Amino acid sequence: MKTSKYVMVIGMSAMLCVGLLIYFKIRGQTPLTPSHKLYSGYEDERIFMRPDDLSFPATSLIATPIRLPVIMYHYVEHVKDRGDTTRIKLDTSPEVFEGHLKALRLANYETYFVKDIPEILSGKKEASTRSAILTFDDGYEDFYTVAFPLIKKYHVRATVYVIYDFIGRHGFLNKKQIAELIDSGYIEIGSHTLDHINLKTAKPEIARKQIRESKRLLEQDFHFEVKSFAYPLGALNPPIVEMVKEASYSAAVSVISGVMQSDENLYYLSRIRPGLFMPGTMIEYLENVQK
Ligand SMILES: [Zn+2]
Repeated sequence: MKTSKYVMVIGMSAMLCVGLLIYFKIRGQTPLTPSHKLYSGYEDERIFMRPDDLSFPATSLIATPIRLPVIMYHYVEHVKDRGDTTRIKLDTSPEVFEGHLKALRLANYETYFVKDIPEILSGKKEASTRSAILTFDDGYEDFYTVAFPLIKKYHVRATVYVIYDFIGRHGFLNKKQIAELIDSGYIEIGSHTLDHINLKTAKPEIARKQIRESKRLLEQDFHFEVKSFAYPLGALNPPIVEMVKEASYSAAVSVISGVMQSDENLYYLSRIRPGLFMPGTMIEYLENVQK
């Protein structure tokens, strides 16, 4: 009697697990904690998407891709709240980050902005065979306090994607800091929409406004041309990509994993996540990865 009760409990638990797995498989994502629903934490969960998952041409059809690793960072800090698993997951420690910059320098890597990629691909701009592009999503304040001093120390370039409506909020870059970043010449500021919504599930008119208005307002406030764009949550599909093209951006980054870029994926450039690498192994990865 007792045994059959155990068998029943185990059987029901297994069925529940299988049910949940099927549910999330259908939804195409892993379960989200409440904090994931805010503005961060979700992007890296789509990092293993391939273009064909998004109804774009398969990788093999992309014409003459070149190796141009675009590295994705979020936070660079010592996370104080050890219970903040989202932040920990998206964080690169200042020591590891400095190690990355040191390793890139030692290996004679040249860094570029995302806005340089169209010119590199078209041959207008000559790029080193050892090139890397550093990108920072969301415009967190630690970019200014921690990453930026190291960027200046190692003389590298970086592209920072800011969420327009979050500028000046607690934990995010403020206008004065952004102006200083632009003035330094080390930083390209790109758009990451107005308030980090999922463009794929938004109404088309809302998505279009988020893409256009964020560019217009950044240009109005900071007097420069916003040329590149990053999709919040990595969420994109062909109509969203068209909207980004129509808004006169010249390139956009995705969270599709990879280091090969071409004209075909100029509006959903692949990126890699360096949190996976210690400084030494990052260079090894950059030089040996095939896709
Ligand atoms: Zn983001």
